[in-house]
Amino acid sequence: MKSGAVSIRQIHKSYGIFKALDDISLDIDPGEFVTLLGPSGSGKTTLLNVIAGFERPDSGSLMVDGVEFIAKPPHRRDLGMVFQNYALFPHMDVFNNVAYPLKLRKTVPSDIRDRVKQALDVVQMGHLSARRITELSGGQKQRVALARAIVFEPRLLLMDEPLSALDKNLREHMQIELKRLHLRLGMTTVYVTHDQQEALTMSDRIAVLRNGRIVQLDTPQNIYDRPNCHFVASFMGETRMLPVTKNSRGYHFAGRPLKLAQSPSAVEKQWLVVRPERLCWYGDEEHDNRVEGVVVDVVYRGDSHSISLKLPGDHEISIRRAPTESTPLPEPGQTLTLWLKPEASVLVEETSA
Ligand code: ATP
Repeated sequence: MKSGAVSIRQIHKSYGIFKALDDISLDIDPGEFVTLLGPSGSGKTTLLNVIAGFERPDSGSLMVDGVEFIAKPPHRRDLGMVFQNYALFPHMDVFNNVAYPLKLRKTVPSDIRDRVKQALDVVQMGHLSARRITELSGGQKQRVALARAIVFEPRLLLMDEPLSALDKNLREHMQIELKRLHLRLGMTTVYVTHDQQEALTMSDRIAVLRNGRIVQLDTPQNIYDRPNCHFVASFMGETRMLPVTKNSRGYHFAGRPLKLAQSPSAVEKQWLVVRPERLCWYGDEEHDNRVEGVVVDVVYRGDSHSISLKLPGDHEISIRRAPTESTPLPEPGQTLTLWLKPEASVLVEETSA
């Protein structure tokens, strides 16, 4: 049986009168990769620290494989941890850093040698096992930290912004590596980040946190395409939120009726979620959900052009034009007809949390 099932129930944690975690419940399946995503101060690290045992919640329950963990000290939880700042021992070489958790567990030396070698091979650092930590690059240090976290095959791996100290290219490369590693080793992983792209790339499910509460828990695709509130929609990606009006025949934007993917709730005040890559703007057939926009400027971005437009009501929006598109680039001042397919048209209401 696969282990590493996590069940978090009604966790509360306050610092004075400030609620850092406010009634958090979350079930994680064995082998699942769940990301805690949210802005600074939303409670991600506090929740991870509760799971690790570095923070004791005021109330609530944390079960791992059916065993209550709340009162267990961190070293009894047998969890692998990777931090942003690596937390390696600078005076030891790579081998001894990775061997450390095994020595703590009194593993016999021949096993230590084999398992450290295996863990270093997994993160492609086998050739550097005799190097001092101070002689490694940021990406190499993070690989060593990862090898140290997985060498004793924990049932649960916790990672707190492990890639945020790396530059963009290396970070994107390591995201793919971590994802592949997770698929190979299959250990339950709880990952903290405030980077939406990272969360979308890596996770089986994402828990979006705000003010110590989980506002949406879902697959990356649903979080992006079917946000459940204004906060999640505007936090994910480059999003514009357009206010819509309601009358007896449904919702409207700029005087035209909207055809929607799903029927919205009956709440009066709603927004249309618009992402640049979902807006279509060329061809002249009749389409649903059309609106005219006047081009403000056109900016070259390398992989595409970004075209900003003013919509009725003075709302500004941008669209992209990929280099592969044959349509000519519009000029500032030109009017374009934009449309949003009904399946990409989602309304959201205000977040209650
Ligand atoms: P970041 O992305 O900036 O790391 P986060 O989502 O991980 O943010 P937490 O570190 O969990 O946020 O903090 C949640 C809130 O709890 C913050 O407002 C923080 O200031 C507060 N907090 C955390 N630890 C303490 C503490 N020991 N004493 C008082 N307040 C704390």
